[in-house]
Amino acid sequence: MTHLHYLNTTCAVCGESCRFTIPEGAVSVGSRDLDTRPAEPLRSTIYAWVKRCPSCGYCAPDPGRPLKGAVDVVRLPRYRWQLDARKFPKIANTFLCWSIVQEDLGVPAQAAWASLHAAWVCDDEGEDVPARICRKRAADLLQRAWEQGERLAPQEGADEALLVDLLRRAGRFREARAVAAEILEQNPQPLIADIMRLQVRLIAASDRGAHTVAEARRFRRPVSL
Ligand SMILES: [Zn+2]
Repeated sequence: MTHLHYLNTTCAVCGESCRFTIPEGAVSVGSRDLDTRPAEPLRSTIYAWVKRCPSCGYCAPDPGRPLKGAVDVVRLPRYRWQLDARKFPKIANTFLCWSIVQEDLGVPAQAAWASLHAAWVCDDEGEDVPARICRKRAADLLQRAWEQGERLAPQEGADEALLVDLLRRAGRFREARAVAAEILEQNPQPLIADIMRLQVRLIAASDRGAHTVAEARRFRRPVSL
């Protein structure tokens, strides 16, 4: 069961007093999605992962924590546009604004995570086109993180597996298939190999839906690429 408590803080950008609802103690029970999205009840606490200052629009996991440079990012026209962009659900905009902050401060890996989280909000709202835009952005940021020598996840092959899912669910099947084939050629650890085989099957079926890691474990049989 998820319990709620409140975070009273002062916005680090504008100094306004803010109060946010915080779910506590939620864990993921069951298999995660292929893009790491947790199972319930943690899954449904997403609305509280990033908070928006109602006064200045600063979006962050903890708007009370000062972040060097954030004051300037919040003023950017791009940030102001994203804050109320009509084509995205409001909570997706909150995540995308946090993603812009991280991108602008030179942390593309964290910006990629925030953009992926925005995609999950869009999924929940049934907003397919915005979800694809968020995933494309996450895929681009992930690759930018690699160029800087950063990884999104420490486990070997996890970033590559995530990239395949981002590309598949964004409808970029050819690119997704190419990355999956490349990973399989490198003899990855068994779980990554299982996931890649499932991805290859999903791509062949033009399946852009959400699937779980448990499914990948279930269908352990070789396929030809
Ligand atoms: Zn503020």
